[in-house]
Amino acid sequence: MNFALTDDEKAVLDTARKFAREVMRPKAAHCDETNTFPKDIIQAAAELGLVNMNIPVELGGAGLSHQAQAIICEELGWGCAGMATSMIANDLALLPILIGGNAEQKERLVKPFTQGFKLTSFALTEPGAGSDVAGLRCTARRDGDFYVVNGQKQWITNGEYADQYSVFCTTDPAQRHKGLMCLVVEGRPQGLTVGRHENKMGQRASNTVTLTFEDVRVPVKNRLGEEGDGFRIAMETLDNSRPTTAMVAVGIARAAMEHALDYSKQRQQFGKPIADFQGIQFMLADMATDIQAARLLCFQSAWMLDNGQRNTLISSYAKRFAADMGMRVTTDAVQVLGGYGYSKEYPVEKLMRDAKLIQIYEGTSQVQRLVIARELLRGSMSPSGF
Ligand SMILES: Cc1cc2nc3c(=O)[nH]c(=O)nc-3n(C[C@H](O)[C@H](O)[C@H](O)COP(=O)(O)OP(=O)(O)OC[C@H]3O[C@@H](n4cnc5c(N)ncnc54)[C@H](O)[C@@H]3O)c2cc1C
Repeated sequence: MNFALTDDEKAVLDTARKFAREVMRPKAAHCDETNTFPKDIIQAAAELGLVNMNIPVELGGAGLSHQAQAIICEELGWGCAGMATSMIANDLALLPILIGGNAEQKERLVKPFTQGFKLTSFALTEPGAGSDVAGLRCTARRDGDFYVVNGQKQWITNGEYADQYSVFCTTDPAQRHKGLMCLVVEGRPQGLTVGRHENKMGQRASNTVTLTFEDVRVPVKNRLGEEGDGFRIAMETLDNSRPTTAMVAVGIARAAMEHALDYSKQRQQFGKPIADFQGIQFMLADMATDIQAARLLCFQSAWMLDNGQRNTLISSYAKRFAADMGMRVTTDAVQVLGGYGYSKEYPVEKLMRDAKLIQIYEGTSQVQRLVIARELLRGSMSPSGF
């Protein structure tokens, strides 16, 4: 196993670290308080190569390894999880095209993202279909060289600002996963309505909206693969994105641990710093250990992708463990700060609210357990990944 980065990857990591510290962090509390999407910051990140990290060199992208992308995502999560989610949502939405698209589609629908700032959304979830992806109801009816799309998508990150949407729909809801396909919707065609920005608990810097499709005409040439390929494309997309999404939780947790560590050295009770109490020390020790364990699971699942291996099981370990770890560590960080931790004057309560989302999106922690159990029971993958 090799955790070493190339010189180019080290340079991007330094860029991410500096950007998180100098640009994201200073604006994080303001965006959270005002529920504002900082498009200028996302654009600045894109110009530095911190958005669309997964576009291969042959399409004009940086072609970063999955391991490098994961390491960068920790820094972005450390800077501000809401902003990080909007940044990686772009990579998420391009994945179905990279996985299921043909050469012409990649050139036409991915390459423009390397030539100027554009946002795109991954539109899978619906009001009635979240964990049960095969139950989605957004329909696509063939009409000559077009599909006519009708339905609703819910909780779509970047949806208000997107120039393109990777939309999962069905030709026949009764066929469940066999009826799914992915269509790429360009721009804002007639019949596509974007709902209001959601008022969320955390990650409030990320833009989240509903999309309504009413007789939206999408050219057949924008269908990825064949009718019926949508479920496979969606699942492969999520296998790919889990290591980076999980690393956002690692970044949030690291930020919380750093605040707790600093505070514990300053805060005096019973005549000494609370860091002198074993009860506090054990919390800090568990935080650090669990953060590192999550980081290493993410590295292993990213490494598997970089080496052409199916990572479904290990990436679900990573997402499940990192998301639950992020919630636990941020809750403990609030505990270390006591009453001050519960106040909006200190940054840890925001980290706790931000961490919660990672247990929910891109497959809840329960769904990750379903995937893990299914893989174990099938015996199709070694539980260690080796
Ligand atoms: C801020 C935000 C941003 C998002 N961004 C996007 C996006 O860009 N694109 C997109 O497509 N989606 C996005 N999502 C949607 C997200 O992926 C879904 O919310 C998630 O998959 C869960 O679906 P649900 O909310 O419908 O919950 P449900 O599926 O209704 O689940 C409700 C509860 O039941 C549990 N549950 C469900 N089924 C089972 C089962 N079989 N066994 C045990 N427990 C189960 C779940 O774990 C959960 O605890 C986003 C969500 C949020 C909140």
